[in-house]
Amino acid sequence: MTQHDNLINGQWLAGNSYSPNLNPSNLADVIGHYTQGDAVQVGEAVQAARSAFVAWSVSGIQARADALDKIGNEILARKEELGSLLAREEGKTRAEGVGEAARAGNIFKFFAGECLRLGGETLPSVRPGIGVDITREPVGVVGLITPWNFPLAIPAWKIAPALAHGNCVVFKPADLVPGCAWALADIISRSGIPAGVFNLVMGRGSVIGDALVNHPGIDAISFTGSQGVGARIAQACAQSLKKVQLEMGGKNPQVVLDDADLQTAVELCVQSAFFSTGQRCTASSRLIVTEGIYPKFIDAMKKRMTTLKVGDALEAGIDIGPVSSQSQLEQDLSYVDIGKAEGALLAAGGQRLKLALDGFYMAPALFSESVASMRINREEIFGPVASVIQVRDYEEALATANDTPFGLSAGIATTSLKYATHFKRHSQAGMVMVNLPTAGVDYHVPFGGRKASSYGPREQGRYAQEFFTTVKTAYTLA
Ligand code: NAD
Repeated sequence: MTQHDNLINGQWLAGNSYSPNLNPSNLADVIGHYTQGDAVQVGEAVQAARSAFVAWSVSGIQARADALDKIGNEILARKEELGSLLAREEGKTRAEGVGEAARAGNIFKFFAGECLRLGGETLPSVRPGIGVDITREPVGVVGLITPWNFPLAIPAWKIAPALAHGNCVVFKPADLVPGCAWALADIISRSGIPAGVFNLVMGRGSVIGDALVNHPGIDAISFTGSQGVGARIAQACAQSLKKVQLEMGGKNPQVVLDDADLQTAVELCVQSAFFSTGQRCTASSRLIVTEGIYPKFIDAMKKRMTTLKVGDALEAGIDIGPVSSQSQLEQDLSYVDIGKAEGALLAAGGQRLKLALDGFYMAPALFSESVASMRINREEIFGPVASVIQVRDYEEALATANDTPFGLSAGIATTSLKYATHFKRHSQAGMVMVNLPTAGVDYHVPFGGRKASSYGPREQGRYAQEFFTTVKTAYTLA
């Protein structure tokens, strides 16, 4: 069985042990064995990155652009193969996996362009004869910590801007998806980027992530994952005065008004609640529906859900792959029990499925007659579980949508320009969708949320420079 190692200072190095990487669609399928690093290896990676930073931070922008473009081109050329690996390892469908691989490739190509677009400002001083230049410089050595649910796209949208802006990287992927992380590191290692500029250390969050966050040689941490871990990382970074960026959970509302086109509303709710097995931070888990359309909406949702095919992520024609792990499956099923105990009506699905292959399969669950205060409507479940909340009118829908500790993405299905415009302005979310699913975003524009969903500057697009650069103001006597 193939063994995969960490990338430190341009060398592939074994950690203390190897862990098997299992396919959640078929537990008999072992994808490979991936090494488990430790705090010593984190120290070596940070040291390598610090040494490489001296030259990389002032390297030519053409060389950086060429390297990122090369990475993007290889990912795009291999998107079918990488998408299949992603589907096999994480459990989203092959079509979704290939789409994510293409997205990762395009992100690298976008940031190849960003290398050439970094601007500054020249302003007159208030004192005569003096000029003021405002420029951006790299932050230093950045630690990048990522979750399992977008194993190519999220690493790409952190690594690409970090490198484009002249930073060195120590990348710690989620334990569940080392295959995509290793494939990405392999591509980056052959791009012409000098040794030590990019390092991969795989292993447990409590070991590798913790060592990274607390290492004095790390200047900044960009984290995507759960709110609990994110809050602890923010505290540790505050102690050591590291720059920090956190993208965390969601409990995203999808409002459906009486005037919505029913088919459009049902399709976008099904997509954003259940596709990618509901394992998206931008998934809709609260469907907030006004009373005039509520009965028709429930009937149409139930009917549409009977057509959803759950199965092996690599099989053609599958709509929904398995849940990614045993513990996530147990969490999803426990929330189905919690919803029933709270008095919501399980309108469809919610049970574990036994299929020909032994995997973590679950029928997507829809609760009706739920109320906003129930735990299923307050806590992030992170699986194919959605609940419908009936409201009187638009005003109550907006208030219910905003009544959450999270604020990542929010959607509205309506044919009213007045309500769509009002919702875009008054939704307390970082991203708002009109007649579109709450999940599914472009790669060249800012991504991020408010409240407990995000902390620090936005990711992606031009806005990524806020985190990955630091501003310098220079005065010159003419
Ligand atoms: P998680 O918080 O368990 O893990 C995220 C990463 O942190 C992993 O690499 C993990 O190994 C690491 N980690 C764990 N403990 C750590 C510690 N003590 N110190 C440092 N690092 C540690 O999250 P997950 O289960 O991998 O991902 C699911 C979560 O991610 C959900 O809450 C989801 O909403 C969120 N998410 C958010 C976004 C976004 O952009 N807002 C995108 C995708 C996923």
